[in-house]
Amino acid sequence: MESCAECGAPSCTELFHALLALDHSRQPPWGPLHSVSVACYQLQHSSQLPADRGAAAWTLLRAYLDGGLDEVTQLVGQARRANSHRVRGPLVRPGTPPPRETPRTPFAVTIEDVAVNGTFPAQDFAARVRSWATATTNAWH
Ligand SMILES: [Zn+2]
Repeated sequence: MESCAECGAPSCTELFHALLALDHSRQPPWGPLHSVSVACYQLQHSSQLPADRGAAAWTLLRAYLDGGLDEVTQLVGQARRANSHRVRGPLVRPGTPPPRETPRTPFAVTIEDVAVNGTFPAQDFAARVRSWATATTNAWH
């Protein structure tokens, strides 16, 4: 099986779709971590980054690593409110520089590690996502 040129994991696209299906069930532990999982995946696949080149994903991961899920919930809530008022406010805070260059080193943790046997077991899922987020932000430094 060929490894992904960006994150280094084999079958990362299939794994990501499997994870999204779990996220959309809205069940813990997957549902609440949905935005964190997507941010990790995006930042490990710079060719798939949205127009902001990962600034929002980056801010979200920093918030998660600094303040945990509460911080993420707050951030996502702010973005929703901003959208509902049709304000085009990006999800970026002052002092959080967006990533600039694609990391050249392989990521220490990829979606393959989070998936374990491909099923994203609930046990220790949150801990694995945290390692995924840490490895992602470390590689971008
Ligand atoms: Zn990949």
